[in-house]
Amino acid sequence: MSGAPHNPADRLPPQWLRVPWPVAERVLAFVSTRDGGVSQAPYDSLNLGLHVGDRVADVQENRRRLMQVLPAGVSLQWLEQVHGCTVVDAAADGRVRTGDAVYVDRVGQGGLVMTADCLPVFFASADGRRGAVAHAGWRGLLDGVLEATLARFPDAPGDLHVWFGPAIGPCHFEVGEEVREAFVTAAPPSLQESLMASFRLTQRPGKFLADLYRLASLRLNAAGVPAPRGGGLCTVCDRERFFSYRRDGISGRFASVLVLLP
Ligand SMILES: [Zn+2]
Repeated sequence: MSGAPHNPADRLPPQWLRVPWPVAERVLAFVSTRDGGVSQAPYDSLNLGLHVGDRVADVQENRRRLMQVLPAGVSLQWLEQVHGCTVVDAAADGRVRTGDAVYVDRVGQGGLVMTADCLPVFFASADGRRGAVAHAGWRGLLDGVLEATLARFPDAPGDLHVWFGPAIGPCHFEVGEEVREAFVTAAPPSLQESLMASFRLTQRPGKFLADLYRLASLRLNAAGVPAPRGGGLCTVCDRERFFSYRRDGISGRFASVLVLLP
């Protein structure tokens, strides 16, 4: 795309995160932040979620601003996320579909997931002809949303690039014994030790600090992705840039977007 008059990545607001991976430039992949919208507190300012109690007109304006940074004619597949494992094929008909991951293999199309603590995971083939983005909370992770996303690709998992976006970090993600048990029960014996190490004891009885990035890495490693990148951006810690449901209770949503540029 270097010969194009405007590289679409240059049109993103400076605070937004471009996915730093060695994938062909025909894939535009980024994470929006709180920056650049019109919503009032506690949704300030670029809340993209319609289901969180914000003014509909403000969210619509925010979504319009998101579309504005994309090249004309690009369509986005929006999802109704349900913490499940359904992978939706992006379409250009404007219909919202129920699922927790979106797969894109046509130029001019894209998809997104919205989060405010759950883990957004980007996938792409190195040549940039196929990509996906998935929403993984602990429930979806446990039930296999990442494996389901990998399975949608014709590529061997080891040939894909994978990047973790901002999510609640091991500094803040407190969970109960039942969550740890669920992961341990689901894992093969060879992974037990690594799994246990993903849950750190706290001072509070029956409470653990879970490392969502590590849990996701273990699942991806087992599925044939040797070295996913990213992680380390905690939504709770970084109040300036990210919405966090755990921190604020009432909160907006930011978007993880992947587009195959026309
Ligand atoms: Zn944190």
